[in-house]
Amino acid sequence: MKILVVNAGSSSLKYQLIDMQTEGVIAKGNVERIGIKGSVLKAKGNGHEKVFEQDMPDHKVAIELVLHALTDSEIGVIKSMEEIGAVGHRVVASGEYFKKPTLVDDEVLKTLEKTFELGPLHNPAAATGVKACIEVMPHTPMVLVFDTSFHQTMPPKAYMFGIKYEDYKEYSVRKYGAHGTSHKYVSQEAAKYLGKKPEQLKIVTCHLGNGSSITAVDGGKCVDTSMGFTPLDGVLMGTRSGCIDASAVEFLARKKGLNAADMVKYLNKECGVLGISGVSSDFRDLIAGAEGGNERCRLALDMFNYQTKKFVGSYAAAMGGLDCIVFTAGIGENTPQVREGVCEGLEFLGVKLDKDANAGKNTGAIRDISAKDSKVKILVVPTNEELAIARETLALV
Ligand code: AMP
Repeated sequence: MKILVVNAGSSSLKYQLIDMQTEGVIAKGNVERIGIKGSVLKAKGNGHEKVFEQDMPDHKVAIELVLHALTDSEIGVIKSMEEIGAVGHRVVASGEYFKKPTLVDDEVLKTLEKTFELGPLHNPAAATGVKACIEVMPHTPMVLVFDTSFHQTMPPKAYMFGIKYEDYKEYSVRKYGAHGTSHKYVSQEAAKYLGKKPEQLKIVTCHLGNGSSITAVDGGKCVDTSMGFTPLDGVLMGTRSGCIDASAVEFLARKKGLNAADMVKYLNKECGVLGISGVSSDFRDLIAGAEGGNERCRLALDMFNYQTKKFVGSYAAAMGGLDCIVFTAGIGENTPQVREGVCEGLEFLGVKLDKDANAGKNTGAIRDISAKDSKVKILVVPTNEELAIARETLALV
């Protein structure tokens, strides 16, 4: 079966068409500037790339153009849309409405609208993408795959905030986590690589990218994760502050004359390693800066490694043991300095890095970077959220 994976943002749309027999990508592309002047689709297929520049006032027109590209005479990879067996849609926030990947019907679409206030930037776009696909492919099953699903197994003691219980019940304010599709995928790939069943392992997965989150996976299930009600919580990130005392937020808001919404924007966009370094949110720039003697770049990196390490240690405590640490995503897969900084000092837990293996090139395959006598396996596992969404979609249809 061929599965189309759609990841719709507010003005963008990324897609991949995956052949589930081989799990290979047969076409992919992205649309930018939907609803804005200068809309463009960059599509790849048949070993070629083609750029479609045309007005795309909404997601329906964008989806129509994507399907046109999939059947295009030059870069097309299918003859008709009937060849697409199902569509998997990435959805960022689920609240407490959806616990697992869900087949779309009218009722589900109505419920999806209730999640808009939990993911105001992403969820309305995802719903628009789903509706656009239904209009163009009315008989093809649509599946919603949530970033939060994998975290639904967290126990209440892990997902509750210390607020009034009545307010949790009334407003559903609790930890939901994010990057769940990636954490699930890399933890399963790690188990496969180690020749073990997920049930046999206590794994901490570190998804370290522009957004970063760390998850405790005990016996194949998420028992805790570092992101919270929204992806602002946890370690400091590219431009996000990570966790911060709520009173400091109120104090800063007063000093800077910002209202609540502007303050959240500030914490999401101006803080993190960008705010600390004053140089960049990109770790390649930070490492270059630190190597050139920039103290604030050094501090940003030290903070990131230290905060990540603390999550690894606390999750080992939460699970009562640790068999494996997994590093994934842009930084996790490509930045040996961070992996070394995170593992340093965790020797008491049985974590011992092989520095040469850690310094080795990213091959795109799973790499074991632990020393031979390390009790805890340390793996670099490339994430593949699109394939994970396609697998979830296939499992449901
Ligand atoms: P992501 O959000 O997963 O795309 O990760 C982006 C982060 O990964 C940025 O901070 C990049 O600096 C960092 N990174 C480091 N090396 C690479 C690389 N070779 N390719 C992509 N991202 C990289």
